[in-house]
Amino acid sequence: ESSEGQKMQEFRRSLPAYKEKEALLHAISRNQVVVVSGETGCGKTTQLPQYILESETEASCGAFCSIICTQPRRISAMAVAERVAAERGENLGDSVGYKVRLEGMKGRDTRLLFCTTGILLRRLLVDRNLQGVTHVIVDEIHERGMNEDFLLIVLKDLLPRRPELRLVLMSATLNAELFSSYFGGAPMIHIPGFTYPVRSHFLENILETIGYRLTPYNQIDNYGQDKMWKMQKQALRKRKTQIASAVEDALDAADFKKYSPRTRESLSCWNPDSIGFNLIEHVLCHICQRERPGAILVFMTGWDDINALKDQLEAHPLLGDPSRVLLLACHGSMASSEQKLIFNKPEGAVRKIVLATNMAETSITINDVVFVVDCGKAKETSYDALNNTPCLLPTWISQAAARQRRGRAGRVQPGECYHLYPRCVHDAFSDYQLPELLRTPLQSLCLQIKSLKLGSISEFLSKALQPPELLSVQNAIEYLKIIGALDEDENLTMLGKNLSMLPVEPKLGKMLILGSIFNCLGPILTVVAGLSVRDPFLMPFDKKDLAESAKAQFSAREFSDHLALVRAFEGWKEAEKEQSGYEYCWRNFLSAQTLKAIDSLRKQFFHLLKDIGLVDDIESCNQWSHDQHLIRAVICAGLFPGICSIVNKEKSVSLKTMEDGLVLLHSLLDPKLDISSHDDLLSVVRFLVSQDQCEGRFVFGRQMPTSLQKAKIG
Ligand code: ADP
Ligand code: MG
Repeated sequence: ESSEGQKMQEFRRSLPAYKEKEALLHAISRNQVVVVSGETGCGKTTQLPQYILESETEASCGAFCSIICTQPRRISAMAVAERVAAERGENLGDSVGYKVRLEGMKGRDTRLLFCTTGILLRRLLVDRNLQGVTHVIVDEIHERGMNEDFLLIVLKDLLPRRPELRLVLMSATLNAELFSSYFGGAPMIHIPGFTYPVRSHFLENILETIGYRLTPYNQIDNYGQDKMWKMQKQALRKRKTQIASAVEDALDAADFKKYSPRTRESLSCWNPDSIGFNLIEHVLCHICQRERPGAILVFMTGWDDINALKDQLEAHPLLGDPSRVLLLACHGSMASSEQKLIFNKPEGAVRKIVLATNMAETSITINDVVFVVDCGKAKETSYDALNNTPCLLPTWISQAAARQRRGRAGRVQPGECYHLYPRCVHDAFSDYQLPELLRTPLQSLCLQIKSLKLGSISEFLSKALQPPELLSVQNAIEYLKIIGALDEDENLTMLGKNLSMLPVEPKLGKMLILGSIFNCLGPILTVVAGLSVRDPFLMPFDKKDLAESAKAQFSAREFSDHLALVRAFEGWKEAEKEQSGYEYCWRNFLSAQTLKAIDSLRKQFFHLLKDIGLVDDIESCNQWSHDQHLIRAVICAGLFPGICSIVNKEKSVSLKTMEDGLVLLHSLLDPKLDISSHDDLLSVVRFLVSQDQCEGRFVFGRQMPTSLQKAKIG
């Protein structure tokens, strides 16, 4: 026991951060803001908060200190807290705790709290000055997530009001100047690290060495590409043509002539739109057959393709043989007990392969990695399943991210990195990833700004590290006004308040709220979760007709993808009860993984709605309405005004009727009107949807009538 502890302390002292301990503590005690940078794995996250905790308790003989350290992902908040508690030989919840949405481990004596950025933002909602907090540490700021950029604006505002509060910003990359100058030239401390050189193989070399042939057929993955993907493709086409023409140009270039005709032919078949599972399988086999030991880290885009790839590899004679290969996954929606396995060293000659998301780029360090396989893509934005947007697509990473991925191979000895794309594509990557604030819709953020009472939205956002364009801010505000979340003076309406408490896009939030009010939450939860995860309907390239007719059964006569999803999901739940879920999926061209994810997200959404008091308890589940018209009305209301995507093309939409319906509903939802039961409203909705032309479109009123609230919530 104690020798375990000694080993742990030795390990701590061996980390590069340890040499800088005094300098770090000194800087933090003298300055309100300090920016710390250092190579991934040098000990920023696990050590620095501990140094502060130790020095504060030593210096003031146990006097009060309260340190909050934010993490962009819930899984890292939990994992880090657990690790730090173990390093201190304590139980989680003693001096070290964590808090993430819906979960936490925190005691009366907790002095160091790891939490998600979202949790700290929510605390600021009720405690504007962070009373009693002595240190705030914002970790992984280089990722430039929306929440983190947002938090920095709020903290910058707060610092003058709390002169004794200390702020530490931690980054895995060197661009510390940006953050330092944002905080008026805050001192920067760099923790020097050391990494071994890593040799890069690009697709052309890989194809040449492993003799694998890409054909158009090979590019079709085992799991189908969903419809959203196809829709988005059009938008992305321009970027993709750039990639494709880069590849074409390269193929013509003189230095490509040195590759064999087979490699060149393969390259011309390379499809930048999909991640070739078969190629990955071959590369992994190739590495496993090499004599050189060392773990392999494979960068994928999300839990869905990780799971699909894992399924495929488990069926492989070598890669799926547990006596030779230890195959593990590492992604955000994993239990932390499962996640811990990635740190274990396998016995003997067993090769460890970890399939990870870009989480493993900077926030998690696996020490024995020697080989990295990089698919070149990441899903932007999605650190947290609950914040997923429906059209979240894998996109090419930046050169900085590729470098970071490559670096993971050189922590213990010289490493090797297999990039599964040609070098010319790498050279076409942008230098750095655009901050999230500049590339995602701002609607949810605007609601947050309002609910935190931070004044004018555009004025507030103009204070960001890199402010978004005024036009996109105005668009977001306009949208929120149209859906009734903000009033004309940019004040939050009742709907807006409820929406701001739901960490989903406003349109999905609106569906959830209306689904609760109209008591049809069951199907609506499925639709919202489905839109947040991905379409579970698979469309394999070679069995397209079969797949489409399987899907048509579910959508029946309504031509509604959403209702098809609801029926497919409910059928699966029934089949699961009889242990025939997989068979059901197989028969109906459904992805079991996706349905499982939808199922778990549904539960999370339900708890959230319960938390904010929109639904009472599980018992009411059985009384949920399955009225098709009502469900469609709620979906339409959520999608409004972006509704055209679900309107049946065969039917012409008469705007006049729709407008009429809207006026009618508006008058009904006038807060001055007293609606004693929501049945009145229901009948109007039914009336509207029975008018074929209007497909149940309606807008939720500018303000949720209190009577309606009482009717349902009270
Ligand atoms: P940084 O934040 O600078 O990237 P960390 O503080 O996360 O570095 O990690 C420091 C070291 O501790 C790394 O070598 C990492 O592998 C190790 N480490 C962190 N968490 C764990 C864990 N749960 N189990 C084993 N080792 C860990
Ligand atoms: Mg870290």
